[in-house]
Amino acid sequence: AALDADERRLTEKRSKLLGDSYRLFYRKPVHLVRGQGQYLWDAHGDKYLDVYNNVASIGHCHPAVIAAVHEQMQQLNTHTRYLHGRILDYTEDLLGTLPAEITKAMYMCTGSEANDLAIRIARAYSGGTGIIVSQEAYHGTSGLTSGVSPALGSGQPLAATTRLVPAPDRYRVDAPDLGAWFAAEIQKQIDDMAAHGIQFAGFLADSIFSSDGVLPGPAGYLKEAVEVVHRNGGIFIADEVQPGFARTGEAFWGFARHGVVPDVVTTGKPMGNGIPVSGLLARPEVLAAFSDDIPYFNTFGGNPVSIAAAQAVLRVIREEGLQRHSLEVGGQLQAELAKLAERHENVGDVRGTGLFIGFELVTDRASKTPDKALALDVVEKLREQRVLTSVAGPHGNVLKLRPPLAFQTHDIDWLVSALDTALSTCAQQRRNAAVPA
Ligand code: PMP
Repeated sequence: AALDADERRLTEKRSKLLGDSYRLFYRKPVHLVRGQGQYLWDAHGDKYLDVYNNVASIGHCHPAVIAAVHEQMQQLNTHTRYLHGRILDYTEDLLGTLPAEITKAMYMCTGSEANDLAIRIARAYSGGTGIIVSQEAYHGTSGLTSGVSPALGSGQPLAATTRLVPAPDRYRVDAPDLGAWFAAEIQKQIDDMAAHGIQFAGFLADSIFSSDGVLPGPAGYLKEAVEVVHRNGGIFIADEVQPGFARTGEAFWGFARHGVVPDVVTTGKPMGNGIPVSGLLARPEVLAAFSDDIPYFNTFGGNPVSIAAAQAVLRVIREEGLQRHSLEVGGQLQAELAKLAERHENVGDVRGTGLFIGFELVTDRASKTPDKALALDVVEKLREQRVLTSVAGPHGNVLKLRPPLAFQTHDIDWLVSALDTALSTCAQQRRNAAVPA
């Protein structure tokens, strides 16, 4: 369908006024004006199912967050150079969700800032500079983090100190022991650094490998990798921007699925349910190497209003039992998607943990050839049925199904039947195109 006059006006104005690096989703852009729970409404009043947003993790416009922010905003908003109880209460609460070894917190506004600081800490602690990330990793917008974000493509050079390991993709990697294989890949890159005179500083990873195509892998397989990192004098930075705050269902933190203790944990997106707040949690001895010598002040980071939002998020996750909910509803959704896959030859793999699911599309199951064109068409067809999602992975052929945790059992039907229709329609269109006129 063509854009209406208002959509055309906004689209044109947007491309005139905003930098060209900003990308719009969809051939026919969506103009959203309202959200509640797992649903969104556009300017025409049409209702959408959000299957993509993990920032509004406890649900769009959650009343507990609105009330907490409103109340604190009426009292005071200032920075972290004065005494304030909220940040301390929250920190105690948050640290209680982490392994006992992690006892210190820092706050900032974005995941990028958290990872940027984590890299600086890794370097100060280890004395090295080399950072290992996965082949399609995304860790942020800053100079340091874009230098460890191959997902940004060839236009963005990686730092000379960055090394890449292939993603632990059980669908494509033929290794009987994924953990041993992945640990060996990390060792190879550490050795390559040494051969180039670069000292290893750390391994930075999102344990669900979201931008590599959503690869939760079997719980526990990251253990050997973390051992290799420590044996070589580096630190393990768990980027929890994607899997943290109950998303995986199996654990509150993504790394906890693997029974490992990171040296540094970084957070972002879901932490404030849309209010910009991020954090860095660390072992004190690791943090000390940086903070004993270098001051850190983040003007907006850890302000009472952001912390009030973060407190409300933690409380709601507990009160609404969202971790268990993510595991249960995510499990139901995965089971329905697996049934759907039986009927569509183009579905190569369905994988996930909790409400974080990768749905991989291929030209055929035997060759596993990634079908990016189909994935993009399916995303558009889902949009026509008012289901919002997007793609991930090095080939852009994996649907990233990652709804707010407010997603319910009764939403499964909307999503799965829309996917069914989208896959059937695309297959039919291809058959039609293949028939000579
Ligand atoms: N790490 C990961 C794994 C992410 O997915 C993102 C954002 N997509 C970031 C870091 C950066 O977070 P932000 O956009 O808040 O800076």
